[in-house]
Amino acid sequence: MRDLIVIGGGPSGLAAGVSAKAAGRDVLVLEADSRAGGNMRSEVIDGCVVDWGPTTMRLVDPLVLTALDGMGALPDVVDADPHTKSKRMLVCSGALAPLPGLPWSLMPGGMFGLGWLGRLLWNAISPPKQAADVTLDVWVRAQLSDAILRNAVDPFVSGVYAGDPTQLIARLAFPDLIEMADAGGGSLLRGVFKRKKAGETISPGRLINLRGGMEGIATAATRTLGDSLSLSTPVRGLVREGEAWRVLTEQGEHRARSVVLSAPCHALGPVLAGLDADLARQVETVPYATIALVTLRLRESDIPNIPAAFGFLVPRAEPSHVLGALFTSCLFPGRALDGERAITLFVGGRRHQAWLDSVDDDAVRADARALLERVLGWRGEATMHVKRIPRAIAQYDRSVWGLAEAVSRLQGRHPTLRWASNAPGGVALPAAIARGWIAGKP
Ligand SMILES: Cc1cc2nc3c(=O)[nH]c(=O)nc-3n(C[C@H](O)[C@H](O)[C@H](O)COP(=O)(O)OP(=O)(O)OC[C@H]3O[C@@H](n4cnc5c(N)ncnc54)[C@H](O)[C@@H]3O)c2cc1C
Repeated sequence: MRDLIVIGGGPSGLAAGVSAKAAGRDVLVLEADSRAGGNMRSEVIDGCVVDWGPTTMRLVDPLVLTALDGMGALPDVVDADPHTKSKRMLVCSGALAPLPGLPWSLMPGGMFGLGWLGRLLWNAISPPKQAADVTLDVWVRAQLSDAILRNAVDPFVSGVYAGDPTQLIARLAFPDLIEMADAGGGSLLRGVFKRKKAGETISPGRLINLRGGMEGIATAATRTLGDSLSLSTPVRGLVREGEAWRVLTEQGEHRARSVVLSAPCHALGPVLAGLDADLARQVETVPYATIALVTLRLRESDIPNIPAAFGFLVPRAEPSHVLGALFTSCLFPGRALDGERAITLFVGGRRHQAWLDSVDDDAVRADARALLERVLGWRGEATMHVKRIPRAIAQYDRSVWGLAEAVSRLQGRHPTLRWASNAPGGVALPAAIARGWIAGKP
């Protein structure tokens, strides 16, 4: 019998496997796909690296650095260009404007108006009473303003979650922000001052990728795990038998003293069905946003006015199904040839899910092209590669609010079963790696 079986070989499962192995545990990671890495997918197209999943990883938590080191990925880490990584843009009436454009956007006549200031100050005197499970749109309107919701929060939420602020639970989606207001007795302003007084600062950290793309993390971890990783091994069920777990796969069964669940919620229903039928039903209700990625390389001479920046976000009011774009060749080397700019656009998400599901890839290309023509003045030719990622990013809506409680009850009943799935606990890559790394420890 093994010490540990990890179900799922995405970023969190690989981190769990490597940390268990580093702690001397006899571990086996079971991955359904023929290669490990989950959403981390990279490819070389016409001589340049393209990521079909995460493209930037924020490195703040020292634990994530330790995990990358343990996986063997550190030698290939590259930092984003320091001059462009903080220059973010927003599409504003068909043109690119700096985001947040502080302090100008906060001035009278700026894109956020001034209502937010009065609200912030009034709330410091009389903090709003908000339910624990308030949605993000309601929270932002009560703390700041409708203009900040429309022009900053909504596009930002599209960039992170491909999500919709009217559905996301604020406390699950942005726990740090809500905890800051909690620390101020419900007032964001008081919370900010309290943290400043306590000397707490939020470091922006490093922004990284790997020389050959983000999938390099999986390649390194696969090497480190060796025969502790079994590919093309989908798990179908989980049975508790005395002190042991029986993990049922299509090829047979494995036994272990403990188990880490690292597959996405939408894959865990059948795995949990025999163990906890209610939870199995509950995980299947967690929505995941579908996204289409469009990548292309533009001739610089066709886009003379493009800024050197991180990329841009697209507010809901713009006539486009694109959520945002990354200027990947501005951020990382090896993404475009000389005289070119590489761009990746994110299309669809919760905002345009029905549209994306109803159109073919040519319509996605046409939509991306129309936006680039409008905001960059692009008129040239380029090959546009499209990839759809179904059920890409978990949406922390009301279903996840209930799930968090059900998961802690499950772990109370079964301390040798650890939850490292991507809801709840953070949708970003560093969060996945950190929770996997912790879950793999004895
Ligand atoms: C298009 C896109 C862009 C993104 N961009 C960024 C970004 O720039 N920065 C950032 O920080 N984050 C980004 N993310 C989020 C990031 O990719 C996720 O946080 C991360 O992939 C989550 O890792 P995970 O291990 O929880 O899940 P996953 O990556 O989904 O991996 C889960 C694994 O479990 C396997 N599995 C499923 N069912 C079974 C089964 N029954 N048995 C065995 N194995 C199974 C799957 O095959 C998969 O390999 C992006 C995500 C997407 C989709």
